[in-house]
Amino acid sequence: MITLVPMKPRVRFAPSPTGYLHIGGARTALFNRLLALKTGGTFVLRIEDTDELRSTEESVQAIFDGLQWLGFNWDEGPIPSGGEKGPFGPYFQAARARKGIYQPYVDKLLAEGKAYKCYCTTEELDAMRRQAQLEKRPPRYDGRCRHLTAEQQAAFEAQGRKPVLRFRMPDDGATEFQDLIHGPLRFENKLLYDFIMVKASGYPTYNFACVIDDHLMEMTHIVRGDDHISNTPLQYQLYKALGWEPPIFAHLSMILGPDGTRLSKRHGHTGVQEYRKMGLLPEALTNYLALLGWSTTDSQQIFVPGELEQKFDISGCQKSPATFDPVKLNWMNGEYIRLLSKEQLLERALPYLQEAGVGTGVDKDLLCKIVALEQEKYKLLAEIPKLVDFFFLPEPVYDPKAVEKVLKKPEAPKVLEAMARRYAAVKDFNEVELEREARECAKELGFKAGQVFHPLRVSVSGRTEGPTLFRMLEYMGRDKVVKLLQKAAALCAA
Ligand code: GLU
Ligand code: ZN
Repeated sequence: MITLVPMKPRVRFAPSPTGYLHIGGARTALFNRLLALKTGGTFVLRIEDTDELRSTEESVQAIFDGLQWLGFNWDEGPIPSGGEKGPFGPYFQAARARKGIYQPYVDKLLAEGKAYKCYCTTEELDAMRRQAQLEKRPPRYDGRCRHLTAEQQAAFEAQGRKPVLRFRMPDDGATEFQDLIHGPLRFENKLLYDFIMVKASGYPTYNFACVIDDHLMEMTHIVRGDDHISNTPLQYQLYKALGWEPPIFAHLSMILGPDGTRLSKRHGHTGVQEYRKMGLLPEALTNYLALLGWSTTDSQQIFVPGELEQKFDISGCQKSPATFDPVKLNWMNGEYIRLLSKEQLLERALPYLQEAGVGTGVDKDLLCKIVALEQEKYKLLAEIPKLVDFFFLPEPVYDPKAVEKVLKKPEAPKVLEAMARRYAAVKDFNEVELEREARECAKELGFKAGQVFHPLRVSVSGRTEGPTLFRMLEYMGRDKVVKLLQKAAALCAA
């Protein structure tokens, strides 16, 4: 297998702006970027917006936003705030089409008989497909317009038909190339087809514009999802027809959902922005994406900053499908959350707290301490507001089960009244003192420690689980704790 990487590779991520930046696209962007970073090469962003019906501005924006959030900066391409950087622009294909960049290649292929006008209507193409199916042939274009005379063409034009341009595929032989991940690939040319290069609207198709641009932008490696593997022989033939050396191809493994089918919207999977909303850290998602179809020989799972670009190697990419496992992703996010300092954690959690209206106006140092209380437990940033909200509510929302299980115990009112008195009087309202008081109370009343600890927790937080009890009480402060204990005592006595 060829693994030789020429000096200074040029690679690209070339999304079609017809939806969100999804996991597969983000993975493709990442692998290209890693390849460039590792080799000192150049990572280009090119927007393939030649589908006039499906391309949208919002989608271009979503791609920019997604890439920027992940920190996948590109060396050349559009600048989200406006303009472009790099010597090979425009980096939007529609703009390239309007500039006439594709025209000379269209003219050349037409002049050399390597492309031709096809006047078939949709109805004719449908009928052709049905006929092929009946005869158990591959449902491909049968080449009927390959040899139209000038008169026949004129007659079609007179009917008002607008032609598309098709590439004339060789009938015999095979298209063979080395894929860096899949190894040698071979496609019988008779199974390929005369694909459309230019639509009736005059816009180029993906397969055509992609080849022209990859060549003009001097791409050395095409790293993309293996859903494109069937396009590659078509593109390969186009390179040959234009007398160009094709780049090196690497097709990344398919990504499957947990149910074993190709990852899609059905898996509740939309765009990377959804993962942002859920509270994934971009660096955790990046780490996870890197392992979708790639691994080190020792199956390393967590990479410190800067390590991925050092260790990434196309030879570690596998061709068998990768499975997207949300449980593992969340676990990994938890690992990354634990790597943050308290201050960093607050900074990351702040947008989620603000969105939920939790902790507004609270002293930053206190908020920082409160958020860090359960740092060990968090998996997603978006779950933090719900876990800490009781600190900031005038009184907690009581979980009826917790009330039933803990506050309805016969000893609860007595315990809580005693604790309210103790905590009102204790000199230093700190963790150590608060625990000492609680243990003393248990001893005095002849209860087990838990019989005091549990009602304390439920009284102030409404739940049976949460952060370390006495530190939590310390952070809540004397006034609030005493008030809530008195209130709970009344509540459970009722
Ligand atoms: N525009 C294509 C897509 O989004 C790019 C394929 C390629 O990388 O060549 O699928
Ligand atoms: Zn035709």
